[in-house]
Amino acid sequence: MDLSNYIETIENYPEDGISFRDITPLMADGEAYRAAINQIVDYAEGKKVDVVCGPEARGFIVGCPVAYELGVGFVPARKKDKLPRETVEASYGLEYGEDVIQIHQADIKEGQKVLIVDDLLATGGTVKATIELVNRLGGEVVGAAFLIELISLKGREKIQEYDIFSLMKYD
Ligand code: 5GP
Repeated sequence: MDLSNYIETIENYPEDGISFRDITPLMADGEAYRAAINQIVDYAEGKKVDVVCGPEARGFIVGCPVAYELGVGFVPARKKDKLPRETVEASYGLEYGEDVIQIHQADIKEGQKVLIVDDLLATGGTVKATIELVNRLGGEVVGAAFLIELISLKGREKIQEYDIFSLMKYD
C-alpha cells in the first residue's frame, strides 16, 4: 500500500509559500491509518520503549495508537498553559512562527526509554524541544518516528545524534 496516496498537499497554507502536507485523508482511511501505525510499531519493536511522547496536536493522533499497540503509556507535550500540574518547558521555532511546549514534570521518570512520535518532521524545532524536555527529566530518547519528513528543511540535522524514522519523504 502506497501511503503517500493518502497525503494531500495544499499550496499556500497556512501562509503563502508553504506547501502543507495534510495527513487527514490517511487518518480517515482505516486501512491506511492502521498500516502507518503498524509501521511505526514495527520500528519501535526491540527498542524496549517505556513510554511514547508526542507533541500537540497531530503527535497525539499518531503517537497514541502507537503507545496503545506497544502496551505502554503516552505523554502529551502541549502548548503553553494547557497542562494543569507542574511542567517543564522549552521554546521552539516552527516552519511558520514560534511557540512554547510543556510536559508534566511527573510524567517522565528517570531512566525511562522514550519514543518521540509526531506526524511530520519539518525544521526539527518541535522534536528538538520535545527531546530537550524528556532529557531534562532524565528520560532516554530511543528514537523519533514520523509519518512524513520534509527533507529540504533538514530537521534531521538538528537531532542527528538520535535514531530517526520516517515513513514518507518529501522535498
Ligand atoms: P518543525 O518543528 O519540525 O518545523 O515542524 C513540525 C511540526 O509542525 C509538527 O508538529 C507538525 O505537526 C507541524 N507541521 C509543519 N508543517 C506541516 C505540514 O506541512 N503538515 C503537517 N501535517 N504538519 C506540519
